[in-house]
Amino acid sequence: ITVLVVVPAGGGRGASYRDADAEVADRVADLLGRMTIEEKVGQMTQVAVPAIERIPADIGLLGIGSLLNGGAEALHDTPEGWAAMIDGFQREAMESRLEIPLVYGIDAVHGNGALPGAVVFPHNIGLGAAHDPDLAAQAAAITAAETRATGVHWTFAPCVCVARDNRWGRTYESYGEDPGLAAEYAGPVVQGYQGEDLAANTSVLATAKHFVGDGGTAYGTSTTPNDLLPPGSTYRLDQGVTTLTEEELRSIHLAPFQAAVDAGVGSVMASFSSTDLGEGPVKAHADSYLVNEVLKGELGFDGFVVSDWQAVDQVSDDYAEAVRLSINAGVDMVMVPFEYRRFIDTLVAEVDNGGVSEERIDDAVARILTQKFELGLFEQPFADASGAGDIGSDAHREVARQAAAASQTLLRNENDLLPLAGDASVYVAGSGADSLGRQLGGWTASWQGSVEAVTEGTTILEGMAAVAPDAAITFSENASEPIGDADVGVVVVAEDPYAEGIGDEGVGVHDMRVSDADAAAIDTVCAAVDCVVIVVSGRPIELTSHLAEVDALVAAWLPGSEGAGVADPLFGAAPYGGRLPVTWPRANDQEPMNVGDTAYDPLYPFGFGLATA
Ligand code: BGC
Repeated sequence: ITVLVVVPAGGGRGASYRDADAEVADRVADLLGRMTIEEKVGQMTQVAVPAIERIPADIGLLGIGSLLNGGAEALHDTPEGWAAMIDGFQREAMESRLEIPLVYGIDAVHGNGALPGAVVFPHNIGLGAAHDPDLAAQAAAITAAETRATGVHWTFAPCVCVARDNRWGRTYESYGEDPGLAAEYAGPVVQGYQGEDLAANTSVLATAKHFVGDGGTAYGTSTTPNDLLPPGSTYRLDQGVTTLTEEELRSIHLAPFQAAVDAGVGSVMASFSSTDLGEGPVKAHADSYLVNEVLKGELGFDGFVVSDWQAVDQVSDDYAEAVRLSINAGVDMVMVPFEYRRFIDTLVAEVDNGGVSEERIDDAVARILTQKFELGLFEQPFADASGAGDIGSDAHREVARQAAAASQTLLRNENDLLPLAGDASVYVAGSGADSLGRQLGGWTASWQGSVEAVTEGTTILEGMAAVAPDAAITFSENASEPIGDADVGVVVVAEDPYAEGIGDEGVGVHDMRVSDADAAAIDTVCAAVDCVVIVVSGRPIELTSHLAEVDALVAAWLPGSEGAGVADPLFGAAPYGGRLPVTWPRANDQEPMNVGDTAYDPLYPFGFGLATA
């Protein structure tokens, strides 16, 4: 018996995909023609570091296409540490038969939050309040440079979600509730990340996420999310169902994706959520209409679609069916992220049995390889850390400070209390005043962030001292020290950091009420002196019942590593000019404020913001 094993041509030196001067499309076609089905499926596989670091040789053996570490986790303390780790994995990839380099991704969503010492910008909601897409693009460009210098090629940002319910744990990842606002940011920010040339050592591949309707998920209502989901699927509160008409979906949630696609975004991440257009909920990962027809067809997206973390597993209890439905719906790369052999075996078997066509696989792999060629990885697979010296530089921090200042949103200013005099005697209280961790928020050193300081930066209190060196500043977090002869009180209330939710089920993040300790600080300080309340939070919080004695109110959002940006307008070193990117409700239970059938009676409407000179 003769067994004939057909292995396509190897990738010897003369192979045209190696020719840097050839057209990308030709290089892709040449390389694709040399690949086995197993190698193709390998390219469609994204594995998490904790899974691959046990058997790094699997990268070359299986031809794994991509690695990530999720949640902005700080795996290393230095740019060199990151670069050495990624280069090590890349050496394994270069051992693969065709020497196809890896693309490595992280969540650098507001600066390279995975690297201690990198500059951290305000989260998107603050950038949206600044109404300055160019400034956001500058922040993205700096983030790209501070990320690529560590050997990372790809960021899972920007989130172009349109947040429609402030109880959603990811509201702060949105530029705001208005589709026009989110769409205005999407293009410039994508260009900021990707630069003029994706291969430059200051550029990273961007990801518009989460496709589509993540910001419209309904929960916290009288209907339990479980009842809304397809049978057999698992849920979390932040991964629910967006129920709307097709027209609403298009006008609210699709607009920013169109802008991102027009700007040339290289990847799009599918949403954990489901969309119900009237015929029952369909998981985004299995929604062929929305991914294949709308995103890739109508919107003209020619990059690749990456799944969210383990999200394919949620599509069906039957894993083969989950993989088949997702790939056929148009998902090109699967963030597996752990059981990668199971994924590869399952998809190869689906191709063998006709469940997934080889054309679909070729399309997916061509999309992925195109971005790898554009990133210049075939020419320069290893880290170019020459930009590492600029990470966290004064020039970068200055832009972050400006962005924080521009995002400050003045909601009340009785008797023109603000700006404060530079030589005022100021009594400062509240959990957000001297807490770098709280002003950074989630996606900084870890998924959920931390109340501990997890990177370098200055707190708001430190920023006040720097901006107003002649001010007499007293600090007592819980306002237990005597208020004495202070001219004014500044109470900085804050949310503790969170990401998609608190705890495994996303529980807790629904509650937008100010903490009891911060409420008590407001009540104590504002009863004694003229007072300013500054709110450090990822979304509006409920403090209506504590506002009676408050003279000035500022939404500081999650301002990032430069506390001086909050202090600048407070002391008149910069103007207040931010405007609300989301409606500020009177109470938690008014949410969602954006549905036509409830009266719009907020504390402050969308777009509101006072200005100072
Ligand atoms: C989030 C994504 C993120 C991914 C990788 C998921 O849980 O939904 O936004 O990019 O994890 O960290």
